[in-house]
Amino acid sequence: MNKNPHVPAEEIAAQAEYSRMCADIIRERYYYKIPLAYVHSFGCQQNVSDGEKIKGMLSQMGYGFTDNADEADFILFNTCAVREGAESRVFGNVGSMKKQKQRNPKITLALCGCMVQQEHISLKIKKSYPYVDLLFGTHVLHKLPQMMHERLSSMSRVFNITEDEGTIAEDIPIRRDGTVKAWVPIMYGCNNFCTYCVVPLVRGRERSRCPDRVLDEIRSLIVDGYKEVCLLGQNVNSYRAGSDFDMNFSQLLREINNIEGDFRIRFMTSHPKDASHELIDTIADCGKVCRHIHLPVQSGSDRILQLMNRGYTADSYLSLVEYAKNKIPGVAFTSDIIVGFPGETEEDFAKTLELVKRVGFSSLFTFIYSKREGTKAAQYSDQTPKEEIDRRFKQLTDLQAQIAADNFAGRIGQSVRVLVDSQGRLSPDYVGGRDDSGSNVEFKGGTELIGSFADVEITDFRSAIIVGQCRMQN
Ligand code: SAH
Ligand code: SF4
Repeated sequence: MNKNPHVPAEEIAAQAEYSRMCADIIRERYYYKIPLAYVHSFGCQQNVSDGEKIKGMLSQMGYGFTDNADEADFILFNTCAVREGAESRVFGNVGSMKKQKQRNPKITLALCGCMVQQEHISLKIKKSYPYVDLLFGTHVLHKLPQMMHERLSSMSRVFNITEDEGTIAEDIPIRRDGTVKAWVPIMYGCNNFCTYCVVPLVRGRERSRCPDRVLDEIRSLIVDGYKEVCLLGQNVNSYRAGSDFDMNFSQLLREINNIEGDFRIRFMTSHPKDASHELIDTIADCGKVCRHIHLPVQSGSDRILQLMNRGYTADSYLSLVEYAKNKIPGVAFTSDIIVGFPGETEEDFAKTLELVKRVGFSSLFTFIYSKREGTKAAQYSDQTPKEEIDRRFKQLTDLQAQIAADNFAGRIGQSVRVLVDSQGRLSPDYVGGRDDSGSNVEFKGGTELIGSFADVEITDFRSAIIVGQCRMQN
């Protein structure tokens, strides 16, 4: 692995200088207005966090922002490659930009992220989508100012994809999407090579940010009034591995928990093969860490788990869940499950249903297996027929809906602490947020409550939303 993945400070300073040069060009070119950027991030929270850095850099160059691509001068799609559906959506969006570019050739159309990091995709875009002006992969995000400078000064197409084990770039400006909850990446990349997954192929090897940098970032977020931080990594449990500092994930959680202030800590994702008793004990001990563990199980069949290269069994998963339920009263589990992995039999699937019943997840992210070029599973030939997958998928989601409804019904009368983060969906005079266990809760209240904690008594539920009454705001 790359022993020192940090981008040198001089390189970051050089990028800041490129930003200033871009700002000069932009000011001259758009002397009559503030140019607007439309940045759309597909996929996971890591991508959303990258999108916030992209917006930070664009903001430094003098761009304003819009949610309407039709009025934008700079359009960027930050892409996802995890499933084929995500890629098709990007191609659809890019295709629809052709007309807009014809109407206004001054628009810059850019693509970045996991999907375009794949060589077969970047080649296809270079050849078949001539109106894409700027394309860059996951390892050069911090060089956006330099790439923009090249684009703005030459108006030629700029493509920058490098094969790399990955870098850590600190001190990039961030323009956060919200004011209540913040994403804080603690590590990047993945070493696990689950056989279905493209992430290790496009995000490089695991590398961890220094704890001091993570802690400083969180301290300043709390000073700025943020009430929740979500620590991000493909497998937060391997935080530190291979680094030259001495702090594992549980120890990092304890340090964050010690930061003064009334705020919450979440994290994702925790790989079951590395989720230790130490981690569970830490969650139990640390008052600010939410009683919610997202622990993607993927399948309940040991045979499939082995074919997936997941490194645990259904039994070891269940005993970890049992340990946590005993140690952390009221702990909630959520998970990811893939239906229709190559060779999944009815018997394998029945084991998944069995596991789902035994754990009693509060919610599930269910995915139909998607064949990804370059992964090991793409070579497995025994794909399950589509009708069979659809039937299993429905059976799983029906089961989960029933489990969630039973769970919600059992919680009526309980009191929960909600971090209010938005207007409610059930009614305009409701506000909503998540409780400690990650459930969506809504109650009658004004938007002035956004950004504060409220004690709410649960009175009802509608589908995936718990309904309650506010008893106290704090
Ligand atoms: N690092 C995280 C997951 C990142 S991808 C972890 O290991 O938990 C998020 C989820 O997408 C995965 O948990 C998996 O359920 C799903 N996924 C990944 N590759 C997939 C594929 N090829 N087909 C279907 N679902 C997939
Ligand atoms: Fe993909 Fe597995 Fe890594 Fe998660 S742990 S990102 S599923 S390879």
